[in-house]
Amino acid sequence: MIDTPIPRHTTVAVRVGDVVIGGGAPVVVQSMTNTDTADAQATADQVEALARAGSELVRITVNNPASAEAVPRIRDALDARGLDVPLVGDFHFNGHRLLTEHPACAEALAKYRINPGNVGSGETRDAQFAGMIETAARLGKAVRIGVNWGSLDKGLVARMMDENARADAPLESEAITREIMVASALESAAQAEAVGLGRDRIVLSCKMSGVQDLIAVYRLLAARSDYALHLGLTEAGMGDRGVVFSTAALAVLLQEGIGDTIRVSLTPEPGGERTREVKVAQEILQALELRSFAPTVIACPGCGRTTSTFFQRLAQQIEGYLRAQMPHWRGRYPGVETLSVAVMGCVVNGPGESRHADIGISLPGTGEQPSAPVFIDGEKRITLKGEGIAEQFQQIVEEYVETRFGPPG
Ligand code: SF4
Repeated sequence: MIDTPIPRHTTVAVRVGDVVIGGGAPVVVQSMTNTDTADAQATADQVEALARAGSELVRITVNNPASAEAVPRIRDALDARGLDVPLVGDFHFNGHRLLTEHPACAEALAKYRINPGNVGSGETRDAQFAGMIETAARLGKAVRIGVNWGSLDKGLVARMMDENARADAPLESEAITREIMVASALESAAQAEAVGLGRDRIVLSCKMSGVQDLIAVYRLLAARSDYALHLGLTEAGMGDRGVVFSTAALAVLLQEGIGDTIRVSLTPEPGGERTREVKVAQEILQALELRSFAPTVIACPGCGRTTSTFFQRLAQQIEGYLRAQMPHWRGRYPGVETLSVAVMGCVVNGPGESRHADIGISLPGTGEQPSAPVFIDGEKRITLKGEGIAEQFQQIVEEYVETRFGPPG
């Protein structure tokens, strides 16, 4: 991990298992399963995949007695596989009953996500919310008070809309919606503290699907409290749109030092990997130089100077190779995640960009001599030619990693 150059908004640290959220700790990557939690085997398998991809917390839906009963079995299955990734239970509507009637579930989870808009209504709402908080406080669990603009607390909405309508200078609907989101989170957090849950057990989120809304709401939250903050754009969408919209929102906030843990809510494409959301979250943090997870491959986009796809394939091959090595390399080569490798398409920017990377290769563009100079630590060291350029370059990367990051001697 590298030191962050970005001043961070100060928040209270919250411990979830061995993971620390807030208090200046590195921004934590989270994800969520989309299996039926009652299917303990499928859910444990997906949690494992997400954790092995780098998710440091994994949230699972707990929506009925069958899923609550499965939670301790999922925990046991993960422990048996040597995976200590903390599990977060996502509760809506019936969480108060599930946590009370399934104590083994309450115990197996490290954190509860409670949506204050989906806890109940009228007189029962406060009692049901307090019941869940009491369980968390008694068992030493963390709680995320997760407001979502699709399910705002109706009582609070009615009260604040009414007050706004009577105000001398009423806010526009967009602004009052943001204020309601923030009030829902802060008032619920104050209620939780009044029930006995420490501030060091509370994480807040206010998820919205609009980028500007999300940025505005989190700026308000950060200005008005020191609770640890979970960032995420809700319903970000599918494919490129989901990635771009999430990145746009999260990058602005993270650059302002706001956000202690993130989740990228991507709708998987048919047949797509659920783990993609973890990779995107890591790439956002790595792009902002907040954390390093895997070596960086710098590749040029290609243009009319390189009509062959060889360099694209080489860049892809090297990137895949580096990612595949990381589980083994992480322990053996401390710091290897900061490695940068350049794969460039021609002589225009190839040598320059390759010199800036730890290792770089400048492939021949169309009409250039069929040779590929390799630069190591800014110096041209060798020129590769012929059929086996990809294999030779990979070998050079391997030797560099061993020499620079390997154990001495
Ligand atoms: S390095 Fe060469 S091939 Fe790559 S984009 Fe630049 S000019 Fe085109």
